Amino acid sequence: MTFQFSASAWVVLAIFLLLFCLEAWRPLRRPKRAWGPRWAVNVAFTALALVTGSLTVRPVALGAAAWTEARGFGLLEVLPLPFWAQLAAGILLMDLTFYYWHRLNHTRPLLWRFHNVHHLDPDLDVSTSFRFHFGEILYSTLFRLLQAGLLGVLPATYLTYEVLFNCATMFQHSNIRLPVRLERLVNKVLVTPRMHGVHHSAVGRETNSNYSVVFSLWDRLHRSLRLNIKQADLVIGVPGYLLPRDNRLFPLLALPFTRQRRYWRWPSGKASQRLTPAATPPPSWLLE
Ligand SMILES: [Zn+2]
Repeated sequence: MTFQFSASAWVVLAIFLLLFCLEAWRPLRRPKRAWGPRWAVNVAFTALALVTGSLTVRPVALGAAAWTEARGFGLLEVLPLPFWAQLAAGILLMDLTFYYWHRLNHTRPLLWRFHNVHHLDPDLDVSTSFRFHFGEILYSTLFRLLQAGLLGVLPATYLTYEVLFNCATMFQHSNIRLPVRLERLVNKVLVTPRMHGVHHSAVGRETNSNYSVVFSLWDRLHRSLRLNIKQADLVIGVPGYLLPRDNRLFPLLALPFTRQRRYWRWPSGKASQRLTPAATPPPSWLLE
């Protein structure tokens, strides 16, 4: 177990550094804010989120997985599947159920108060990947407990999905400009930076799309896919919270507990919307 954890932590760290270098080499979107203060906030939130997660989500989910394995409880435990099929089905089902969980974080006002802290980052790069309010990590423990317990995933499945999930999260938040044809191909299977960029748009109906984490299939199946927005036309963030002082450590920590502003209106009071030209390609077509 110790070996598996440290090996997966090294994989995550190596991918983080690789994406960081690629962002410097071929950036996708031009940042609005200075790098230093923004990264300081994101690193602080990441540290808090990782500590919270390693004390709650990880032991609870792994405990649930070990419990279901020992007792033969949960969907995948009652089906007579060989190991590889249980692993593959477990990964797919964990990713599908996380799609629903992410969607719930957008549609339930109480959950959105916390998840909003991730979305109001005014720029998007690999430092946004784990910038979550620790409160969101705390309450997601309940989801992970139900997910691992009811699906009956093996501890090995949980650990494999955890590495996949973390690497996918970093990849989709990264600000790297892949050749668009290559990204269209990869996006047939995986969530990619341009696709997830739309999920961080300052236009509400664009943020409320593209909820998948590893496989883009779930958004295609649920018709929540929106790829036909040019990255150059995207403003990243939540318009009600786009003033520089909104993205500081203490206001962000307090944000879920304060009176909420109108999320989808600019500070001027004007609603954020996009006037799409008539000749726009369909939502399933990834634009440059
Ligand atoms: Zn989201």
